Amino acid sequence: MENKKKVAIVKYKKPTGSLREAIELSDGFSDLKLSDAVIIKPNALTWDNDHYLPPYGFFTTTRMVEDMVILLKEFGVTNISIAEGAVKIYDDTPDSEFVMKKLGYEKIVKRYGAKLIDLNKSESEKIELTKGLDVSIAKDVLNIDFFIDLPVMKTHAQTKVSLGFKNLKGCLKTASKRLCHHPEIDLDLAISLIAEKIAPDLTVLDGIYILEKGPMVTGKAHRSDLIVASTDILAADVVGTTLMGLDPNEIAHLKYYADRGEESLDIQEIDLIGEDIDAVKKPIKWDWSWNEENTGPTVFDRMGIKGAAVPKYDTTLCTGCSPVVNMANIFLISAKMQGGQGGEDNPFSNFEILSGKKMLARPGYDRTILLGNCIIKANKGNANIKGALAVKGCPPPVEELKNALKICGVDFVEGAYDFYMGEIAKKYEGKEEFDETHFNCS
Ligand code: SF4
Repeated sequence: MENKKKVAIVKYKKPTGSLREAIELSDGFSDLKLSDAVIIKPNALTWDNDHYLPPYGFFTTTRMVEDMVILLKEFGVTNISIAEGAVKIYDDTPDSEFVMKKLGYEKIVKRYGAKLIDLNKSESEKIELTKGLDVSIAKDVLNIDFFIDLPVMKTHAQTKVSLGFKNLKGCLKTASKRLCHHPEIDLDLAISLIAEKIAPDLTVLDGIYILEKGPMVTGKAHRSDLIVASTDILAADVVGTTLMGLDPNEIAHLKYYADRGEESLDIQEIDLIGEDIDAVKKPIKWDWSWNEENTGPTVFDRMGIKGAAVPKYDTTLCTGCSPVVNMANIFLISAKMQGGQGGEDNPFSNFEILSGKKMLARPGYDRTILLGNCIIKANKGNANIKGALAVKGCPPPVEELKNALKICGVDFVEGAYDFYMGEIAKKYEGKEEFDETHFNCS
């Protein structure tokens, strides 16, 4: 047992006590000194002022953030910061501080004497992750004495899991976050390399709620009441992955990191303490299914949608354009649902919608909608395109997407996206196990 890395799996039962147990079992504070400056990096991904985003599995619970601060104070640490670089989609997307305040962090910092840091705004340092990929990382996290990585547990539509490694991407500036979705450099490689620049001293996976098919609220949350803790980020993520029923060897960013360090991804090589992993693991899915022709999500086939093709997103699609692509799908579905347009008898006008940074227009379509500056550039001079509709922007404005759909003759429902988000907002209503007080300071 001696050389094995320790990982604690603890059932969340009560405030502070459960996290305390996880940290004690994993020797999580063994390298912590009273004089250390400490940063806690939760997952406070983004905020939408227009739509309610169910917080379950989407954000780290505020309960876990507050508990961590309490335990650090009990230990005797005085210099504590909570830091996040939230995803900014448009210029008017609320900033990290706003998101953290909405999640009750402001009360935490006032009550316990801590600080909030917006990692998007603080000073950064340019660092080469690999040849051709220079990123700007917030200096706060590079120069910190003790870094606590505190993500919520999710499966993820691009990287399969979003745990300790993936949470570190939030320490990059907005442009660098987007750059990691590179057309030539694997997103998983980039993620694995970030952990070599910001090596967490402690990783705690918040699995009070686990999100299936994340990262966005379109996935399905499960109440799981799990906490995973380790001073080793790789071991923590191997355990988190296994708990969600996935094979760590199939997670490319874990594999890249393990291979470089000649480390094992074998769960048997980990000293598991606490709950029996086989008794508490629950397999969940990570992927959204597309049809065989790659002309749309399988729901298009179920609804009999014809005449419009939306190839499956790839790893080059960043969080900026991702909701816009989702909106395109919703608008097409709304046209079919509302008036039957887009079916066998009345197909759409034979167009394709491309996104990300490397999709190439295929032959046979009368129009090609290019969503965002990246895909416009990637398809410059593409001879397969008969009629290009360039929806410019990084990411493109929703109104421009609507205009392009109108040019293609799509008779969509104006409020379709709002309706869809409204349905998502109601998903967990009346379900006792989903407790919104977990997302507020006590
Ligand atoms: S155009 Fe879209 S995919 Fe490209 S960087 Fe901007 S938001 Fe990301």
